[in-house]
Amino acid sequence: MYCRNCGSTVDAGSPVCTNCAVPVGQGTRYCPNCGAETPAGSNACMQCGFILNANAVKPPVSAQGAKSKIAAGLLGIFLGAFGVHNFYLGYNQKAVLQLVATIIGIVLSCIGIGALIVFAIEVWGIVEGIFILTGKINTDANGTPLID
Ligand SMILES: [Zn+2]
Ligand SMILES: [Zn+2]
Repeated sequence: MYCRNCGSTVDAGSPVCTNCAVPVGQGTRYCPNCGAETPAGSNACMQCGFILNANAVKPPVSAQGAKSKIAAGLLGIFLGAFGVHNFYLGYNQKAVLQLVATIIGIVLSCIGIGALIVFAIEVWGIVEGIFILTGKINTDANGTPLID
């Protein structure tokens, strides 16, 4: 392999370049695979195609672990009173609030106010479910866009 900084050959396993003493892998001027000069900022060697900047070829973070819009929306509509859609999307505080309010509502359902609380949280969940399905809510708690 070749020194990224000065382009001289370096032994595999040697931690620094014997020519310029720069740690192997540091520098931007030469291809470590074929030793060709690489223009500053280029992501791959023009001579051999070796990937110089591994970060540049990683898929965008948003594509990883993206949540399903349909699943989140339906959870909101059918189980929204229990905050399930917010647990799914990572909005844990809101989810716990909905879950606790619904449980309190169920406990209090022997008096009229309890049913009202459950109804209100249920409507809240359905509205959020519709917002998710229509794209008004389109990211999870980490800001990752939802996928169809
Ligand atoms: Zn060197
Ligand atoms: Zn190369």
